[in-house]
Amino acid sequence: MAFADEFPVQSLMYITNRPELVFTEGKGSWLTDQHGKRYLDFVQGWAVNCLGHSNPGMIEALTKQAHKIINPSPAFYNEPMIALAKLLTDHSGFDKVFFANSGAEANEGAIKLARKWGRKHKDGAYEIITMDHSFHGRTLATMSASGKAGWDTIFAPQVPGFPKAELNDLASVEALINDKTVGIMLEPVQGEGGVIPATREFMQGLRALADKHKLLFIVDEVQTGCGRCGTLFAHELSGVQPDIMTLGKGIGGGVPLSALMCTAAVASFEAGDQGGTYNGNPLMTAVGCSVIEQLTAPGFLQSVQDKGAYLREQLLALSGEFGLGGERGEGLLRALVLNRDIGPQLVEEARELQPQGLLLNAPRPNLLRFMPALNVEREEIDLMIGMLRGLLKKLA
Ligand SMILES: *Cc1c(COP(=O)(O)O)cnc(C)c1O
Repeated sequence: MAFADEFPVQSLMYITNRPELVFTEGKGSWLTDQHGKRYLDFVQGWAVNCLGHSNPGMIEALTKQAHKIINPSPAFYNEPMIALAKLLTDHSGFDKVFFANSGAEANEGAIKLARKWGRKHKDGAYEIITMDHSFHGRTLATMSASGKAGWDTIFAPQVPGFPKAELNDLASVEALINDKTVGIMLEPVQGEGGVIPATREFMQGLRALADKHKLLFIVDEVQTGCGRCGTLFAHELSGVQPDIMTLGKGIGGGVPLSALMCTAAVASFEAGDQGGTYNGNPLMTAVGCSVIEQLTAPGFLQSVQDKGAYLREQLLALSGEFGLGGERGEGLLRALVLNRDIGPQLVEEARELQPQGLLLNAPRPNLLRFMPALNVEREEIDLMIGMLRGLLKKLA
């Protein structure tokens, strides 16, 4: 039967090209499609499923909570919302949490919070310096904050107030600071931009600049947070304490959950400034509690660091073997630099491998990005490397 006859996908609004696959089951690092073919998943919903597919702890939290209460209304407290906020503040240098549903929404909240703080404490300053090639989401304000090529015109006019600096170039940031500047916002590792880490010195330099000019230091940890980089939050790698942090992706382990966090000094929303129908939804925050408890269990983050180091070694070996451009990243957010623009072709051929496929991602034509589950097995890393080696040989 033709794919479109079996699955009437034409009713879905077109937004991107998708292969004719319908995934029906997932377990750990493996997905199964409509034909029963299995795929080793090194994308995990774009670094979302930090505990792999169908994690037992998450399933238990979700089903237990579903039987208790799904939605009392965001106008009231609920137990999982309180518990997750406490977990997050206990395990970070932040004091306050607002929950939302997506990374973009958390970043919108961060932008609003910074503008509110600027109104109250900095003479109406509102500009937030962001980085070229950054990615902060797909709402109008977060697209304007992003430094993605073409995004300044695609849905023009932009939301004003986001001058762009160069990542890892402190002077380029300092040159943009003026009376209207309220903050600096960046990803500790640019994910969509091609897995480009901010250096430790740059992060520390930004903290110092923010202190000197009374600016808010905002980190978008939607992709880098929640254990992805081997520490619970990636800014810990530089030993800096930001004023505002956003979380998404991994915090829900696959369910729609995100968070905006800040220090007590910055929490300046007044009644009615911020909200949202599903904020603090108990079904999602219950899952978030399970995720954070598993990530902070003794030894877990160390195992992410160990597996990250192992993946790095294996990627470097591949790079040496095929004369590629090396690898980069932090923890289990890594990229292999190819020597030609064969990323998209590799992604497709990896998916079509038989009898088992491999899911990879190419954020740039000459780059492969690896975002496995944080509990991926070493044998699964070996298997992925073996499959990739075969493909690189074939294309060499
Ligand atoms: C994915 C991502 C976002 C957007 O998150 P959504 O949940 O898709 O809105 C924002 N910032 C970064 C760094 C991301 O990786």
